[in-house]
Amino acid sequence: MNATLRFDDSSITVALVGCGGFIGCHLLRALLERTQWRIFGVDLDSYRIQEFLSNSRFEFLSADLAEPAVVERIARYPVVVNLAAICTPGRYMAEAAEVIRSNYNHPAALADACAQSGSWLIHFSTSEIYGKTAADSSALVEDESEIVLGPVTASRWSYATAKLLTERYLTGLAGLNWTVVRPFNFVGPYMDFMPGVDGEGIPRVLANFSTALVRGESLKLVNGGVAKRCFTSVHDAVDFVFCLFANANVAIGEAFNVGNAENELSIADLAQMMRLVYASIKGKSESDVPGIEVVSGEAYYGKGYDDSMRRLPSVEKALRLLGFKAIVPLKVSLEESLRWFIGHYEV
Ligand code: UDP
Repeated sequence: MNATLRFDDSSITVALVGCGGFIGCHLLRALLERTQWRIFGVDLDSYRIQEFLSNSRFEFLSADLAEPAVVERIARYPVVVNLAAICTPGRYMAEAAEVIRSNYNHPAALADACAQSGSWLIHFSTSEIYGKTAADSSALVEDESEIVLGPVTASRWSYATAKLLTERYLTGLAGLNWTVVRPFNFVGPYMDFMPGVDGEGIPRVLANFSTALVRGESLKLVNGGVAKRCFTSVHDAVDFVFCLFANANVAIGEAFNVGNAENELSIADLAQMMRLVYASIKGKSESDVPGIEVVSGEAYYGKGYDDSMRRLPSVEKALRLLGFKAIVPLKVSLEESLRWFIGHYEV
């Protein structure tokens, strides 16, 4: 692997696994706009990336990592970014086995193939690997924090368990050039889906609250909305990946948090902020937008639901090794996301 991948080097092809998903569609756009590279993209869905399908520098394969021939083909490219995953908590309980296949078996097979071919595998893991963090927990540090997951009967942790095992597999696999990315609640346009329109079940909180606002239904606060998250713009996430590309020599063999600690707030405060942003976009007064309703986690998601009470990233390592810091304020991301959501789904 070259220490630096030049963005004007048209001989480079990058494989983007999950190119049709939320993060993938933004990264694909940025790669086509900001580099001269070719992109080999793999996904089951392409509705978010229709506008790129005719681009001569983009080749799209509709497939998934369950097929060994697809894995083998992806690993022929020198840089592989793996974004593919089942990553909505609404599915971690009822579909635990499929969640584990998607988040361990498939990426482990891709890692094996990349170890064989010598490709650099940039694997998107999750901040959820830090587990069942308490409300008073301190900042999560990549190479230091202790990890506690809930009991096996709390199947919420199926996802974290699989993602953590994948990280351990990558670090233990002889000959693999790996980098692990741990996203902290990325938000932006194209995140998840609207239930009953382009997906089923419960999406993550941004899409769920956006759906409620657009449909005029109350925003459901799980267990009172006291859990805290650090919401991070998907545009910051894309910039982070470019920092990796520009610093392969220091990024290989490292795991990085990608999060915006300055955006930390409780889910109850997020609900209120989204109500106000929605009211302002629509020119309504606050009393005319849907209100808030408290629901229990088990009643809402099903048996086995559990939660992390605080997910605060240490952002020091990304700054020190890559010069990266997430900068987009939450209000800016919410305005962008809600405007997009309204334009995309509201009739
Ligand atoms: N949550 C909520 N209402 C919703 C969806 C989620 O109160 O409609 C809560 C959820 O219980 C968790 C937080 O919002 O505390 C973030 O949930 P999300 O599903 O977005 O992902 P997570 O960060 O838990 O992986």
